[in-house]
Amino acid sequence: MTYENLVTLTDIREEMRRVKDAETGKRVMKPVYFAGMRALLEGAFSFAGFFERMHQEGRVYTGDDPSAFLFHLSSGQAECCVTELFEAVDEQGEVIKEYEEGKNVLAITEFAAPELLEALRDEKPLHFNVETDRYFMAVFLFEYFFHTGSPFEGKMMVNRCFLSPMEKELYRVDQGIFCMDYGEHENQPVKGIQDKLIRYWPVYPELLRKMFLRAFMNGGISAEFRPSAVDWMQGFVQLMMDYKECSCGFHDYSFRLQPQENGTRTCPNCGKVYYPLTNGMDTIWLAEGQKLYECQTGRIPFHKDVVTALVVENKQHKGLYGIKNLSKGVWRGIYPDGKTRDIGENQGIPIWNGMRVRFETGEDWFLRLNMTELAEAEDEDPCLTEETADRSCSEE
Ligand SMILES: [Zn+2]
Repeated sequence: MTYENLVTLTDIREEMRRVKDAETGKRVMKPVYFAGMRALLEGAFSFAGFFERMHQEGRVYTGDDPSAFLFHLSSGQAECCVTELFEAVDEQGEVIKEYEEGKNVLAITEFAAPELLEALRDEKPLHFNVETDRYFMAVFLFEYFFHTGSPFEGKMMVNRCFLSPMEKELYRVDQGIFCMDYGEHENQPVKGIQDKLIRYWPVYPELLRKMFLRAFMNGGISAEFRPSAVDWMQGFVQLMMDYKECSCGFHDYSFRLQPQENGTRTCPNCGKVYYPLTNGMDTIWLAEGQKLYECQTGRIPFHKDVVTALVVENKQHKGLYGIKNLSKGVWRGIYPDGKTRDIGENQGIPIWNGMRVRFETGEDWFLRLNMTELAEAEDEDPCLTEETADRSCSEE
């Protein structure tokens, strides 16, 4: 593993790092940014995925150093350089480390779970388990996304004098308020000190913000609310699916598309219309050129890189769009007259107001607009492209 191309959490937070210049051999500062939002999300997914693999193997992190996790800026791929610090748990699912007088068994930082700090204070053994890992992950990811310090560092803690790291972290455990908690409170982030956090917090969808609110509720002491590695992975896949790259070059999360009265959204740059296909919980925004993935239409939840469908324009009817099935799976389209039609590989279903499609998952997705703006499908040719026209039309 070459570490030269990898960055640490500190580099990400600082948005800068010191590297050796290839020509002069001098140490120079270089900016640190992921190749794009996708790479940044891949990094977070890969980090949580590593913890999930370890947990599956019955191992938990007994280290305390966030710089043990490294990231490739181009792909986001995460690496862990201290796998030996993921130790096998006992029958109770724990690794117990005895307290040793005068020995630092754990760094006193914001990454330490409240229960570990309390054990240290009381000179009791430390119990590392999946819950202490969940705390570590939440703090790590908070700093990763918002390029900031401790989630409890706001006005209340910045303006306070602590005599030792232990006093500071125990104050956080006893009285800490998550600095991004809902509403007005005494621990808001401080302008001039936490500018990056203030700037990046609204950049991400509610989904991500809510996960941190959950993790750091009640000073982070409620272990049952801490998102698991799988919760984070699911969240990151949802964010990846929600991140729109419009054909005009605009790219952002779907909440940045402009909502229209009829329930569609439009690209703020080129005006392209995005139609909401929903299962009642999640929404897939459909527009020409948008891809759908195995994790959305297929049976494998974390297959986020396998394209299973593409939104295309009907070659015979300009301005009409459809979802073309690029997977081996068979979908079922349910039409307004109650008729159903199987949609196999390379066949498609038109997008119209009232459409309903059952993907390979067996789950129904539908499109309902507030106005009957899109043409009723009964009168429309369901064939999307010339090459599929013969097959699906000949069934009639
Ligand atoms: Zn656009």
